Amino acid sequence: MSKPTRLRIAGGTVYDPANGVDGAVRDVCIEGERIVSELPRDAPRLDARDMVVMPGGVDIHSHVAGPSVNHARRLLPEEHDADAVRAPRLEDGTLARSGAGGTVPTTFTTGYRYAGLGYTTAMEAAVAPLGARHAHAELDDTPILDAGFFILLGNDDYLLRQIAAGETARARDYAAWLLGVTRGYAIKIVNPGGVAVWKGGQDGRRNVAGLDDPVGSSAVTPRKILETLAAAANALALPHPVHVHCNNLGQPGNYTTTLESMKALEGQRAHFTHLQFHSYGGERGKPWQSAARQVIEYVNAHAETSVDVGQVMFGPATTVTADSPVEQLLAASSGRKWVNVDIELESGCGIVPYTYEEKAAVAALQWAVGLELFLLAKDPWRVVLSTDHPNGGTFLSYPELIRLLMDRSYRDERLKGVNQKLLGGSALLDGLSREYTLQEIAIVTRAGPARLLGLANKGHLGPGADADVTIYTSDADRAKMFATPRYVLKSGSLVVEEGQLRRAPAGQRLAVRPQYDAAVTKDLRRFFVEYATVSFENYGAEPVT
Ligand SMILES: [Zn+2]
Repeated sequence: MSKPTRLRIAGGTVYDPANGVDGAVRDVCIEGERIVSELPRDAPRLDARDMVVMPGGVDIHSHVAGPSVNHARRLLPEEHDADAVRAPRLEDGTLARSGAGGTVPTTFTTGYRYAGLGYTTAMEAAVAPLGARHAHAELDDTPILDAGFFILLGNDDYLLRQIAAGETARARDYAAWLLGVTRGYAIKIVNPGGVAVWKGGQDGRRNVAGLDDPVGSSAVTPRKILETLAAAANALALPHPVHVHCNNLGQPGNYTTTLESMKALEGQRAHFTHLQFHSYGGERGKPWQSAARQVIEYVNAHAETSVDVGQVMFGPATTVTADSPVEQLLAASSGRKWVNVDIELESGCGIVPYTYEEKAAVAALQWAVGLELFLLAKDPWRVVLSTDHPNGGTFLSYPELIRLLMDRSYRDERLKGVNQKLLGGSALLDGLSREYTLQEIAIVTRAGPARLLGLANKGHLGPGADADVTIYTSDADRAKMFATPRYVLKSGSLVVEEGQLRRAPAGQRLAVRPQYDAAVTKDLRRFFVEYATVSFENYGAEPVT
């Protein structure tokens, strides 16, 4: 057996918040695919003097694989032409692929571009269980990234039936079974109950408006769905708690629904995603305003609650969400082309391309709300970075977002250029002076997401951690610095060297397999016979043996 590869990253300025290292000059040692505490003196060295060393980036919420993302690619042929990507020249003999870029890059391009930004792990945030096989196939084609996905459950017909019947234990067993057969990582809830009502209609309604609206049966409400699935995730001891996209996304005045949802799960772990889209004041028919302060104050005061921001960045985006009623509204208001896919009995999926303009009042408000959430957050471990790629902007905009957080004068300059019409209540106008430190950036882009996801070997550089390391040339222009890491290591392999992609090894799949009472499968078989288009045996995405 050949000796495992060794490498000493020597003399870099290390930011490793999980291990309390804040800008200390020290070596990071790698043996094989892991970080080790020490290496012999003659081990190969990478000179990192005057460079910034961090763990590889971890994206807690992104849309990169599966049928919904692929529908978005098919909806946007103009992007394929405008941003065609050549196959990189790789040195490890692995097959390199050309592809399309744009707001929804093709699979290989997604892997290359994430790695080029220093990200080595990403979570696909919304896969309908029926689409799991497709999502795995795409992740298999997404090099470098270790990745997993969240399974959509908040509007799932079988689940709602169990809640209606008061079968809480069976609902939990179902969630566990589903995660296992789909090889998913966490439970995702999108607009709990709202998509089910949108599909079927109920009392003239095409969505739910609040936590206590009935969904079919009066025993099923958004609140009940949240409670059932949050409790299930915690009882199953999943590494990541329930991942919630609240009701009323994008609606003026929706912050009250967001706070109610958080309070409904008070005292138990829960993650609320793309909080920016859920932190608006005002009311329907009246001007919007920021309610970031009210929402983040709740988060600050509740250690069991975590969020990612879902920052809006100016420029092109593509909205991809299981929240079909939201997409119907957005398509109508924007006049852009759209597609909606109904995934039988399980979920929805809508896609609308979108552009956030600095001069548009609502886009400027959304941009400001996201920044307020970041700047008013007390605990960066629980308020982590996302743009809900590609919904609020693509992951390629992360370096620009980091600059906005780290550089107040740049932020103030940008603020002057945006439409001020709806910014009346925004804390940003009060001159928030906070500037994120490199340590805080390391928390919100890697250590925090890794901890929230329960990935013990990610997001840090202690012995035993995966050897995922990003090395930046320090630059006062933080956007430039974070856009072009000098070196990136993935599982000990040097994938980026002198800013160039050199290798593209396959990533690992992150999945869970919780225990459950097998009695649930008996009932499920009956359900499949009556309602499903696939047989029970052919469902899911377990590897063929
Ligand atoms: Zn999302």
